[in-house]
Amino acid sequence: MQAIDLTNASIDKVELSLLQEKNIKLSVLRIDKIHPVISGNKWFKLKYHLENYVANKYEGILTFGGAWSNHIIASACTCSMLNIKSTGIIRGEEPKNLSATLQFAHLFGMQLKFISRENYKQKNSLYLIELKKQFPNFYFIPEGGSGESGEKGAGEILDLVNKENYTHIACAIGTGTMFRGICKSSIPTQKIIGIEILKGLESTTNPISNAITIGEFHFGGYAKYTSELINFMNYFYEETKIPTDFVYTGKLFYAVMELIKKNKFPQGSKLLVIHSGGLQGNDSLQKDMLRF
Ligand SMILES: *Cc1c(COP(=O)(O)O)cnc(C)c1O
Repeated sequence: MQAIDLTNASIDKVELSLLQEKNIKLSVLRIDKIHPVISGNKWFKLKYHLENYVANKYEGILTFGGAWSNHIIASACTCSMLNIKSTGIIRGEEPKNLSATLQFAHLFGMQLKFISRENYKQKNSLYLIELKKQFPNFYFIPEGGSGESGEKGAGEILDLVNKENYTHIACAIGTGTMFRGICKSSIPTQKIIGIEILKGLESTTNPISNAITIGEFHFGGYAKYTSELINFMNYFYEETKIPTDFVYTGKLFYAVMELIKKNKFPQGSKLLVIHSGGLQGNDSLQKDMLRF
């Protein structure tokens, strides 16, 4: 299943005085660049779901997301490229004006079906039964492309780098699918750091897998932000020319820089930070907030 040219990804070295001062090397794996619409980790998470789809006689693909979902736009665009019928189950009542994300998804031929937040909460339980009745021959991809297939695909993100070059790998955590995939495909000497972008999740250390999740950088919760985060994203862009999104990667890079400031990485560490994409979500912000 190869719909995308992965050679567009790059590894960007970041030069900042803080890094020099702390004797830390920081590289960014730019999977945000693999495709203008199917950005970042969403392609990797879709890949094996698409293989499951192709291997069986389904009529189309059905998946789930909110109004600004990176997964919905990636699924819609992928399905249009591969000539697969797609349906998006969208959280909440249909608004008067569709978000830019949903307008594009619609242009890519995705059928949008809006359901109440109540039903959305039960999309993997009670309401799933209803959906299976309505779409009997569809392949269902869980929200965000999660599940075993998603994890397997996300593990392949590390195939783009020479793993031995890095002591630490950091990525954002939404459903945790990418994080788990990366943990599985990392090498035992590496530390994997996951930054939770949802509120209410504790920081945890897993001594066996060398994986750590950090819960203190959610900025108020999913898709919440403060002026401090926005200022950081503008600063980071000006210094590195790397654009970030306010839902995932802005919080990720902010967290990594804070952890470096607080000497959480030993001198000589070589960090790889996964830029997992998601820039289209910035369109939900007021136009003059970001300087990129
Ligand atoms: C979806 C997404 C994530 C979160 O990935 P999970 O596998 O759900 O943890 C991280 N970054 C970006 C840009 C995303 O779109």
